[in-house]
Amino acid sequence: MTQAHIAHYINGAVANGSGTRTQPVYNPATGAVTANVSLANVADVNAAVAAAHKAFPAWADTPPLRRARVMFKFLELLNANKDKLAHMITAEHGKVFTDAQGEVSRGIDIVEFATGIPQLLKGDFTEQVSTGIDNWTMRQPLGVVAGVTPFNFPVMVPAWMFPVAIAAGNTFVLKPSPIDPSPSLFIAELLKQAGLPDGVFNVVQGDKEAVDALLVHPDVKAVSFVGSTPIANYIYETGAHHGKRVQALGGAKNHMVVMPDADIDQAVDALIGAAYGSAGERCMAISVAVLVGDVADRLMPKLIERTKALKVLNGENLAAEMGPIVTDVAHKRITGYIEQGVKEGARLLVDGRNFDGASAGEGCGTDTSGGFWMGGTLFDNVTPDMRIYKEEIFGPVLSCLRVADLAQAVDLINAHEFGNGVSCFTRDGNVAREFARHIQVGMVGINVPIPVPMAWHGFGGWKKSLFGDMHAYGEEGVRFYTKQKSVMQRWPESIGKGAEFVMPTSK
Ligand code: NAD
Repeated sequence: MTQAHIAHYINGAVANGSGTRTQPVYNPATGAVTANVSLANVADVNAAVAAAHKAFPAWADTPPLRRARVMFKFLELLNANKDKLAHMITAEHGKVFTDAQGEVSRGIDIVEFATGIPQLLKGDFTEQVSTGIDNWTMRQPLGVVAGVTPFNFPVMVPAWMFPVAIAAGNTFVLKPSPIDPSPSLFIAELLKQAGLPDGVFNVVQGDKEAVDALLVHPDVKAVSFVGSTPIANYIYETGAHHGKRVQALGGAKNHMVVMPDADIDQAVDALIGAAYGSAGERCMAISVAVLVGDVADRLMPKLIERTKALKVLNGENLAAEMGPIVTDVAHKRITGYIEQGVKEGARLLVDGRNFDGASAGEGCGTDTSGGFWMGGTLFDNVTPDMRIYKEEIFGPVLSCLRVADLAQAVDLINAHEFGNGVSCFTRDGNVAREFARHIQVGMVGINVPIPVPMAWHGFGGWKKSLFGDMHAYGEEGVRFYTKQKSVMQRWPESIGKGAEFVMPTSK
């Protein structure tokens, strides 16, 4: 069977490029290769940047309201094609279809936000800052900006970037993950159908070679990155060295604190969904449960039972709660961490390595042969010195730690090198307030396990989870993709005679 070929998208058309390297794309549920994706070389990246550079002046000059109208049309097309995009995600990522629909919905939220760009770009004006002088500020686009995105949200994470960047008047080059590249091309087609001029949105498929070419290109003015922490650090340093604005969102180790007064059933539901949803391959997944006081005695039996009962199935099966792991490489890494946890002395209560399709429940076990499968894993008695606690596993592995009180829980979390998301389950308003104030984490949930901020609030962690100071999307996104200009103006009638040699002050 000839494999489908997934190419680039440059200047309004699919482009094969001159790069000869390719990478197989898998369906993680079956392990079959479904396509080969091109990996861009430097010339391919240069062609995409050149197209974006050429398109910039006219697009930047297009009134924001007209740019917003393209976004409105794109929004209509996205809504009409939501399920098609979700199926594409499931086919290459493996996450369950309903979760993929949710991913697309959260991406659509950002497009809705971007349609408000005329209001978002409105500047400040002060009349009469001095006699006869007015002063105002405006925000102008940067030029060509690039987005480098991870495998785990092939629609939503690009949508954290390009709708705001484009609506603000920039032109864009997306470098998606080569693991699940198909949605990027479909998005490019929908943008074209929506009336976006050629060259405003381009896609280069690829790996490090493509990313490095973007990082050093003088016409790329800003880079948004989402991915693992070592790469985020590299992107931040290299991009800044080459004079670019960079926001680089990294990895995570998200804790959920369960206080003794929490509703145990709600806490178990939250842990199961947030630890094992999308096979734990979410930067906001809960990978650590911090059990306070005597809560463990009441919670653990239910957690064990629910972890064992997880319905791990092909994501296209609507009964599925969790799909396969994204790649064989990731499967091996996660398996290695489970072995490591056992070696380090953590108590393995449920071992996802023992997963066989048949355990998934009556009538559901037959579609999990082949592919990169594993069940949910649950560890208890994990301690802060263990690697399974310190490092991001990025798989369906939940580690439980026990602490005496809230203060210990807060100290534990604040000492961790990551600070993406965190959650606290409690009925006590004061505990919730103190927790939210003192925790050193960028996104906090109170009885909300995955507190991904809405489109107009902006997304970003603290510590090693974000390099740079601007969060993705929301008003910070608009600031990231624009630069401020201040204009001071007077007219000849109000200009006095003679040169002024003193520092101008308000008169
Ligand atoms: P990754 O870091 O391997 O890849 C991310 C992007 O960087 C991809 O486009 C990839 O092609 C590129 N890349 C990989 N190696 C590179 C290199 N050496 N030089 C230059 N570019 C390189 O991440 P991933 O495995 O695709 O995604 C999972 C990671 O992303 C997890 O660590 C997860 O926590 C993180 N993530 C973070 C957030 C967040 O908002 N903080 C959101 C989603 C995912």
